[in-house]
Amino acid sequence: MNKRFGGKMTLLKEVQVLEPIDPTRTTRLFEGDTNEILNWNDIKYPHFYDIREEIRAQFWIAAEVDMTPDVKQFPDLTEAEQDAYLKIIGLLATLDAPQTDLAAKLADYTTDPSVTSIMATIADQESEHNHSYAYVLSSVTDLNGQIEAFEMGRQDPVLLKRNERIVEIYNEFATNPSIETALKAMVYTSLLEGMYFYSAFAYFYNLARHNKMVATSTMISFINRDELQHARFISELFRATLAENPEYNNEDFIEWVYAQYRHNVEMEKEWATYVLSDVQGIDMDDMIGYIKYRANKMLRMMGLSEIYPEYTENPMKWIRAYVDNFDGVKTDFFEQKSRQYTKTSDLNGFDDL
Ligand code: ZN
Ligand code: ZN
Repeated sequence: MNKRFGGKMTLLKEVQVLEPIDPTRTTRLFEGDTNEILNWNDIKYPHFYDIREEIRAQFWIAAEVDMTPDVKQFPDLTEAEQDAYLKIIGLLATLDAPQTDLAAKLADYTTDPSVTSIMATIADQESEHNHSYAYVLSSVTDLNGQIEAFEMGRQDPVLLKRNERIVEIYNEFATNPSIETALKAMVYTSLLEGMYFYSAFAYFYNLARHNKMVATSTMISFINRDELQHARFISELFRATLAENPEYNNEDFIEWVYAQYRHNVEMEKEWATYVLSDVQGIDMDDMIGYIKYRANKMLRMMGLSEIYPEYTENPMKWIRAYVDNFDGVKTDFFEQKSRQYTKTSDLNGFDDL
């Protein structure tokens, strides 16, 4: 697990705030030279600007979603549905919270101010995601119930086991920041934002499909949109970092990436079976197929190959209705509010959700 790939590990230095005589356009993503002055019309990776615009255009706050209908409906859910609801919000809170910090940490070490800027927006969105979990929980359960849901991440053995590797990889980057540990943290961010969340999202969309807890699902669809964009950016950052550091662009390291995907798909299967098998309306075979489909999708986005050739199509097509309306001005699926979207490019990842 802690295998090293790039020979000698050189620790990255935290970047200076200003280096007045260095160039405005950075020389490298990490360990480069830049004066930290950001001119969006003169950046090393011009397509980062388009991603920046798309991420910014998704601004929302939790309070925009009126939770009143869900407050009334929660007591009518079956016990299994209530239990899964609380567990899954607990899972999302546990995994989403560190993303604010991880985005900030990557920003501390990148020498590309366009990445610093995008990470600032992502960190802000992550902080709103975290807030939204407390917001939805406070609508459906009392303070004790809310505290219990947030305790999941430190007490539930299945969840603890599931999170073991991401904890190790993220903390390794925090303790020993290097090109290698940064690349590994990016791989785990792609797993988190591109795969871990999706069985959780599916649970809420399945409820909404049966006209249950529609406000919660609206909130989840906002988070989902953000995560798709974050996953896309982290994939681009991974590709560019790998291209700048060819000593990691070798079979050994790429095999490590595939092994992480395979391992995490297994963990995800265990977790999904643990929380969802008593819930009506979700076919577990489809769910596991969807997880593998998401794994393929993320690997492709990172410029790698698919590892589950039998899952190149989404086996849960109904999900697309919940996060798939992105052209121009549209009322969102749940018709709770009208939102203006910028036109997204073909690469946004929504088409194949
Ligand atoms: Zn998030
Ligand atoms: Zn994210």
